[in-house]
Amino acid sequence: MEEDSFVDSLTTCDGIHGRGDTHHRRRRPRHHRRRFSAPAKSSNRAPSPVTKVQELLECPLCSKSMFPPIHQCPNGHTLCSICKLTVNRCPTCREKLGDIRCLALEKVAESLELPCKYCSLGCMEILPYYIKLRHEAHCNFRPYSCPYPGSDECSEVGDVPFLVDHVREDHKVDLHIGSTFNHLYVKSNRREVECAARMLMGFNCYNQYFCLHFEAFHLGIAPVYIAFLRFMGDAAEARSFSYRLEVGSNSRKLIWEGTPRSIRDSHQKVRDSHDGLIVQRNMALFFSGGDRKELKLRISGRIWKDNSA
Ligand SMILES: [Zn+2]
Ligand SMILES: [Zn+2]
Ligand SMILES: [Zn+2]
Ligand SMILES: [Zn+2]
Repeated sequence: MEEDSFVDSLTTCDGIHGRGDTHHRRRRPRHHRRRFSAPAKSSNRAPSPVTKVQELLECPLCSKSMFPPIHQCPNGHTLCSICKLTVNRCPTCREKLGDIRCLALEKVAESLELPCKYCSLGCMEILPYYIKLRHEAHCNFRPYSCPYPGSDECSEVGDVPFLVDHVREDHKVDLHIGSTFNHLYVKSNRREVECAARMLMGFNCYNQYFCLHFEAFHLGIAPVYIAFLRFMGDAAEARSFSYRLEVGSNSRKLIWEGTPRSIRDSHQKVRDSHDGLIVQRNMALFFSGGDRKELKLRISGRIWKDNSA
């Protein structure tokens, strides 16, 4: 409770924020930004035998790591099984490819143990070659995708500090300091009331970052709005937080209490699992007061850290 600060802000119908100077802020040149705040390890040492074997396991055509069956041409040049399907001749010596497998290299790969490719981001795992890829797909230290809703259109990845910078600068997302909030969502024209664009706000509290999502969607055929919180970090850490959202007027109130989801779960996945405050459109317009043509929904809420965790 120590850093509670009351935030009141306004998002108008065209998405321009009532607070802050986001539209005047100068965009930092992209090349000055790093995707990761942790410095990558640099090494001046000569490549180790392991590095050399690793290079041997790189397909000369697609540069990806090769897995069995590894193929070779009559002259011994290797090729991955996917590229093998696309060419008739060896990409290295142009000799016609037969159907020769490179069992020796497959055996060498089997004996290899390598660090996770996210070791510079903090992962200490050393893994057998054939397990490495599977681990890396789920490694806790792997970079996060941009949490901005509809981020299939945004391909930025990086660690949390990078992405906080990115959503503020490139998606013009407002960041509020403090663990309580009170936000008014306003959509005044009919089309916008019906398909309120996905909206995102950022919160910074407990030295962590959170994303509050709000958007219109359909539950079956019923038009609804949903609001939910995502945590910018992994799922285990997300579980040590709780949040509460409240919406209402005229002595009626809807309350949602939940655990923020990690941004590892896409915005769409969380929405489609209905893990948030869902308000029927009629109810939302009732809460908005007035002639029920305009959306003016005030969502207040609080984030707290569970002491039991
Ligand atoms: Zn290949
Ligand atoms: Zn060859
Ligand atoms: Zn790892
Ligand atoms: Zn983005």
